[in-house]
Order: sequence, then structure tokens, then C-alpha cells
Amino acid sequence: MSETSRILVVDDEAAICEICTRGLQRYGYNVISTTSSLKALDIMHREEFDLLLLDIRMPEVDGLEVMRQVRKFSLDLAIVVMTGYASLEAAIEAVKQGASDFISKPFTLDNLRLAVSGALAKRDLARERARCRTLIHLAQASEELASSLNPEALVRSALQTAMAETGAHRGSVMLHEPGRDILRLMGGEGLPSEVSQGYSVSWDEGVVGLVMRSGKSLLVENIGEDPRLEGVNLARRDQYTNSSFLAVPIRGGGKVLGVLSLSEKYGEGRFQNSDMEAAGLLCNQLAIALEKARLFEEIQESYKRLQEVDRMKSEFINIAAHELRTPLSIIMGYSMMLRDELSDSQKEQAKAIVDSTFQLSRLVDDMTNLRYLEAGEVSLTTQCLYLQDVIPEVVDRCRRLAESKRQDIYFVVSADLPPVSADREKLELILSNLISNATKFTPQDQQVCIRAEAHDRVALVVVEDTGPGIPTEEWEHIFEPFYQVEDSLRREHSGMGLGLPIARELVHLHRGKIWVESQVGQGSQFFFTLPLYKLDAVQEEV
Ligand code: ADP
Repeated sequence: MSETSRILVVDDEAAICEICTRGLQRYGYNVISTTSSLKALDIMHREEFDLLLLDIRMPEVDGLEVMRQVRKFSLDLAIVVMTGYASLEAAIEAVKQGASDFISKPFTLDNLRLAVSGALAKRDLARERARCRTLIHLAQASEELASSLNPEALVRSALQTAMAETGAHRGSVMLHEPGRDILRLMGGEGLPSEVSQGYSVSWDEGVVGLVMRSGKSLLVENIGEDPRLEGVNLARRDQYTNSSFLAVPIRGGGKVLGVLSLSEKYGEGRFQNSDMEAAGLLCNQLAIALEKARLFEEIQESYKRLQEVDRMKSEFINIAAHELRTPLSIIMGYSMMLRDELSDSQKEQAKAIVDSTFQLSRLVDDMTNLRYLEAGEVSLTTQCLYLQDVIPEVVDRCRRLAESKRQDIYFVVSADLPPVSADREKLELILSNLISNATKFTPQDQQVCIRAEAHDRVALVVVEDTGPGIPTEEWEHIFEPFYQVEDSLRREHSGMGLGLPIARELVHLHRGKIWVESQVGQGSQFFFTLPLYKLDAVQEEV
């Protein structure tokens, strides 16, 4: 019970009205009274009350009939009927029909206070129960809203729930069209035939426009008579002019996305604050779901664009690699001829040209290799391989660069390491990419070491250097195509950022793993695993 509960006293005896009014006012209630049941109905149509204290026997419209009429538009009004001894049966009938309590005349003020406070408490309890029920339904609805990414389905589901919870027979959701001052109908139920999908109204039109602009909910008892709507263009809304109306903004991301409107509550019912609260909660859920759906669509769009850019990049690499090959082989051929034919003093310069063309040719190979690998067009020809044989060979090939930097390059491979199952050419490429990176990035007079050992039924290879190291946040990225830790304009080392992605694709083709561990200023360790060759198979073969 709240002390400011509003009570309407209706009794054809003016003295009873007076006693009840003054008695209840003493307890802090806000009370008005009338001796006319007709007038009472009229007042209740216009104003909201928490409790009706009603005489059962009245000349114009009797108490039972007043109750029936009031119930049509005010479902949760608490009603206490007053009765003389002769009308006791009518009072019992009134309770059967939904009155909270009755008191028999003559009654004391205490009897009256107890009946009124009891009826209000019962009404509050019923309201709380209804609120809990609504919250449960809203929780179920929000689960449904969370599981869909289709804006039309989201709007339909929210609208149906809002109508079911508030008892509206007509409802619509209009959403603001981005970049235009227009609200477009996204979903509607029970709307007149001219208001169908695609229907739009201007941002400043009608009650919906009013809510859109103000961002505040609007609860209207009678849309035709509400002073707040004076001057609002209701031309298209003439179907609503005699009904109660509820419009709630759908707010998301700090702005109003649209408006949910409800009208035609069952019977002659009027929307209550509880309806507005339920619709508001639902609109919050709808706004989140719509924002999620919009973001999902944006991500999908970006993903499509990204795929297109990726396709164009692959295409570009493909064309560039192809177009570079012919001029490169001509330069390579002639520069080799020159190197062999020129005098000793010019040989060195010709050799530098030959070395550079080989370097360029390796870059073109890398570009082509990565493209084929990414397209899944590379297959393996695996065989039984001994890392004890393969590693020294690759190290020898890389030794020239290491020696030019006076680096100490060495390997440790245990003699009893079982053989691996690998494609020789691809394995050599993995190793040479890792070893040449190690020598490339490691300063003069430092060390590069290659180790191989058996580890948990795989062969584990480690290429270790004492170079500059790689920050932890870059460990994943350096395996992405064209990614380089150093800014391309400031880097000292050559390369296109393809060595590691190629190594990764090739290791994955072998069903192995590849990763890096590093400490800035101390050096890096690149690890990769290869499956061991099934020795049983070797024995079986023998
Ligand atoms: P590239 O060497 O052609 O730039 P990679 O794909 O082989 O391309 O390597 C990508 C990046 O990873 C390099 O640019 C470098 O920033 C970093 N990186 C690779 N290996 C090492 C290493 N041993 N030490 C330090 N940084 C390295």
C-alpha cells in the first residue's frame, strides 16, 4: 500500500461519501467522492485510481454493473463494496466477480481502513505476480531475440511478445532509415490495409515521429483528446483516435533506432504503466539484437571485401611472378655469359649481377610457391629421410652468408635420431628459410645453431640464433604473408615477408607444427616438428 493511493468513493448517500472521504484522508489517502454512479464511470474513464469504494445499491447504475463496466478498461483496480444487511448476497456476488473485499454497513473507521489497506495490498501482490510473469516471458523472449540475426524476424518476435504481454490488438515497429529523416515500417500486426510493408512516414509526422524525436515513451489514455498531442498530425492515425495508445522508443548505441507502438488494448482497456515498462524492457532487448544483427552484416560485408582484396592480391602476385620470369632468365643468362667471358677485373661486377638475379629469382619462386600452397595445389612426395643427412647439406648451402658475417653456424643432430617421413625438397625449403633468416637477422660474430632430436613420437627441429629477438606480440603475425616486424622503409634486411608463411604451410602439409619463442635482445628459437617414419613399415617392407 502506498500512502498516496488514489481512492474514489461512490455512494448515493452524501453523508457516507463524506465520512469515508474524511476518514480515509486521515490515513493519508488521496480521496475523491461522488454520489452518482454515472458520474463515477465518467471520472474513471478520465482518471486513474488505485481503489474504488463502491456502494452496491445505487439508483442510476447499480454497483455490480459499475464493476462490470470498470473492469473493461481497468483490470487491476482494487474494489471494495459497501453493503447493508439486505444486500449481503449482492456483495458476495461482487466478490465472486472480482471485488477484493466487502464491508457491511454500519462499519467503523477501523473496519474501513483494514478493508481498504487489505484490498490495496492484495492488488499490489497481484501486480507483483503479474510483473514476475511478464519478466519471465520477457526473459524467454530475449533468449529468442539473442538467437537470431535477421532484423525482420527480430522485429516480428519482439512485436508479438509486446502485444501478447500488453493485450494490444494492433502494433507496429517503425525503424529510422539511416541518412534520411524517414521512419519505415519493419513489422506490423492488425494494421489497416493501406499500412503495409515498406510504408514510411516522415520523421516529424504523427505520434510515432513525436516519440522518435523526443526519445521518450508516450502513454496516452485517449489519443483523440490528449493535450500533449495538440498540433500533432494525426491524419493517418484516425483509426486510433478513440483508443489508448502506447509508443516506446527503441534505443541502441546512444541513439533512437525506431519506435514500437501499440494500440487497441482488449475490450476498452487502457494501457498501464506496467505495459509501458514491459514494452520498454523488450525494446531494449530488441535494440541490442538489432545492433548485433547490423554489426554482423557489417562484418560479413567487410569479410567479403577482404576476400575480394585477397583474391586481387593473389592475382597480382600470380601475374607479377609470371611476368618477371622471362626478363629475369634473359638477364641471368647474359650476365652469366658475361661473367665467364669478361676479364678478371670486370668478373667481380658481373658476378654481383649474377648473384642479384639469383636473389630475384628466389623471390619470384617464393611468390609462386606461396600462391600454390595457399590454393592447396601443392602435394607431398614423402619418403624416409634422415635429418642427419639433410641438415648438414642445407647448412652447407647457407654457410656462405654466415661466413661473410663471421657467424659461427653449427648443428647438433643425435646419431640415433629415427628417420622422418617428409618430402625432401620441401623439407630443405623449410630449413633454408629458417636458417637464412637466422643468419640474415643475426649480427656479425654471433651464433646460429640447428638442433634436431626425437620428442614425443615426432622429430623436433630447432633453429636458434643470438640475434635481435622478436617481441611476443609479433610471434603469431610473422607467419602471415608479407608481414615484417620492421617498418619496410627502415629495414636493413632484404626479403618480402614470405619465408615464414611458406615454411608454415609446408610444415602443416607434413602434419607438423611450427612456432617461435624469443626474447628481445637475446635471440630467437624457431621450432618445427615432423612425423617420424613408421619404423614398423620399414621392417615390413624389408
Ligand atoms: P622476410 O625475412 O623476407 O622479411 P619472413 O617471412 O622470413 O620474411 O620473416 C618475417 C619477419 O619475421 C621478418 O621480416 C622479421 O621481422 C621476422 N623474423 C624472422 N626470422 C627472424 C629471426 N631469426 N630473428 C628476428 N626476426 C625474425
